[in-house]
Amino acid sequence: MLGILSGGTGTPKLIQGLVRLMKQEELSIVVNTGEDLEISGLDISPDIDTTMYALAGIVNEETWYGIRGDTFKGHERYRREGKPELLKIGDRDREVKRRRTELLKNGMTLSKATRELYRSFGVEANIIPMSDDRVQTRIYTEEGSMSFNEFWVARRAKDSVTAVTFEGVEIAEPSPGVLDVIDNSEAILVGPSNPITSIGPILAVKGIKTALEREREKVTAVSPIVGKAPVSGPAGVLMEGLGHEVSPVGVARIYRDFVSTLVIDKRDEWLGPQIQNLDVAFYATDLLMPELKSRIKLANVILSLLGNSSKGKLD
Ligand code: GDP
Repeated sequence: MLGILSGGTGTPKLIQGLVRLMKQEELSIVVNTGEDLEISGLDISPDIDTTMYALAGIVNEETWYGIRGDTFKGHERYRREGKPELLKIGDRDREVKRRRTELLKNGMTLSKATRELYRSFGVEANIIPMSDDRVQTRIYTEEGSMSFNEFWVARRAKDSVTAVTFEGVEIAEPSPGVLDVIDNSEAILVGPSNPITSIGPILAVKGIKTALEREREKVTAVSPIVGKAPVSGPAGVLMEGLGHEVSPVGVARIYRDFVSTLVIDKRDEWLGPQIQNLDVAFYATDLLMPELKSRIKLANVILSLLGNSSKGKLD
């Protein structure tokens, strides 16, 4: 079993490569829910849906949000009625969100509702929300505090970041199965996701970081930063705002307590010694995954790396 920590863009790309090389049911993916929100009365879990759609082969790869080829009649209607939605929700995607909302209203936990949804798409990997309890990422900026979606989607990360908090995390429990995945997987992969707002909330849930620290030897991370910038998204401004160096070395510093190997891009190989100085091993390869071929290639490199790690082997 391979355990993965994921957000909703970089890691799902890599997962698309992994599932070409191994069975979906060998993957357990713990997904960030800090960006979950309610829009037009619907419970929306952006990262869970993207991961699920990526595994189902229907994700919209232009935006890494929603379903490929979806229509937007509902979204347009809300706009005409003067109730514009923060996220551009497609009609088919809306049905999925409607179903989730209904399941949660009937008292189902988010993890059970998630399982029901991904199974309806024929997904066989295990997708687990980090917590069944509500955790809300809040970004503090010089313009005030806001949700992740206001910060990124509405304001395009233009504000200077001063702090990031995860509201509700003090009382949030890991979902059933999360700690088991960490303890019992042969290897854990921290995917190339935003360290602050995708991996950060997962680590903040009670017991998760400690469990990873215990299993440090089998934890490998993939850098979302190539050179001095993220491949996409606001990871750079967030890391900078919190005083981290925006580089694979900065990523290694954030992860060093629970990650024993960091996979970095070839062009950053010269930073290897600085990463080793943090007691993190490094492996340099091509980290850009614009299409399926490069996703499979990187997945292949990572699987060989994990198979050769000192603890456990992946079949
Ligand atoms: P979010 O929920 O959309 O923020 O999703 P993630 O946190 O999973 O994904 C955003 C991160 O993915 C960014 O920090 C990107 O740098 C990283 N990313 C996107 N595409 C790639 C890629 O091709 N290679 C690598 N290494 N990272 C990528």
